Amino acid sequence: MERRTLPGRLTWQLGEVVVTQGETARAKSITLALPNWMGHRAGQHVDVRLTAQDGYQAERSYSIASPPEENQRLTLTVERLDDGEVSPYLVDELRVGDKLELRGPVGGYFVWEARLGGPLLLVAGGSGIVPLMAMIRHRAAVGSTIPTRLLYSSRSSEDVIYRDELDRLVRSTTMLEVVHTLTRVQPPGWTGYHRRIDTEMLREVAWPADQRPLMFICGPTPFVETAAASLVTLGYAPARIKTERFGPTGEA
Ligand SMILES: Cc1cc2nc3c(=O)[nH]c(=O)nc-3n(C[C@H](O)[C@H](O)[C@H](O)COP(=O)(O)OP(=O)(O)OC[C@H]3O[C@@H](n4cnc5c(N)ncnc54)[C@H](O)[C@@H]3O)c2cc1C
Repeated sequence: MERRTLPGRLTWQLGEVVVTQGETARAKSITLALPNWMGHRAGQHVDVRLTAQDGYQAERSYSIASPPEENQRLTLTVERLDDGEVSPYLVDELRVGDKLELRGPVGGYFVWEARLGGPLLLVAGGSGIVPLMAMIRHRAAVGSTIPTRLLYSSRSSEDVIYRDELDRLVRSTTMLEVVHTLTRVQPPGWTGYHRRIDTEMLREVAWPADQRPLMFICGPTPFVETAAASLVTLGYAPARIKTERFGPTGEA
């Protein structure tokens, strides 16, 4: 009998870039066609590997922005760190038609799907919105009406990734609310939050603890730690709080 090896999660595969879209001045979405993709859950990520001509390799993790409902296509959204090794290449150099090596999906903990219920509180700092957007897109794709609130911290309104799509989804779907905080620059007439996420803000935005919301926090490491500690202080069960840390520093 012929034995065939099926491509698995840990097998590197080549995706072809089919669309790129600027999201902000520093962030770009990259859509890849992946004929061997085995599907993913909202919240998971992939490992991306770049290989230089001399064989030097660099590997980084990127969350999947697209919902599981999009077959054999995967969208990543990458924010450029100016002194970074990998992100400037992905944001500034990668073009439609180029190939990108990746493997995944990775991670089974920071995952939400409609059957897990809610209410759902999503807390994003900067590019930490990416896996949470996959959850919001999945929720819309399956027509879920689970009450969902996104608290999203950005430096300015120009730094808000997926701004138009979020506005559109708030208008076109049921029970989705988005609360922005703009920490550095606010547009004229801004009446929303203009400070970093803190305990008081979470108290105002989250449902009361007795409603047992399911919570996902993603962003730079200090952001995630502050938000998670605040939620525990407010009496939410740690088992209902899931976190994903993107990096060592950062100021969303
Ligand atoms: C599970 C997971 C999912 C991720 N998903 C995404 C995503 O969807 N989109 C995205 O843009 N990034 C994401 N990241 C971050 C990504 O993996 C890289 O760390 C980031 O792109 C920087 O890589 P670089 O090679 O450009 O920078 P590096 O060369 O690795 O670092 C350059 C400098 O930036 C600092 N640094 C590294 N990472 C960060 C960071 N995240 N924030 C602030 N400072 C940092 C380093 O300490 C160093 O000083 C994710 C990380 C993890 C662990």
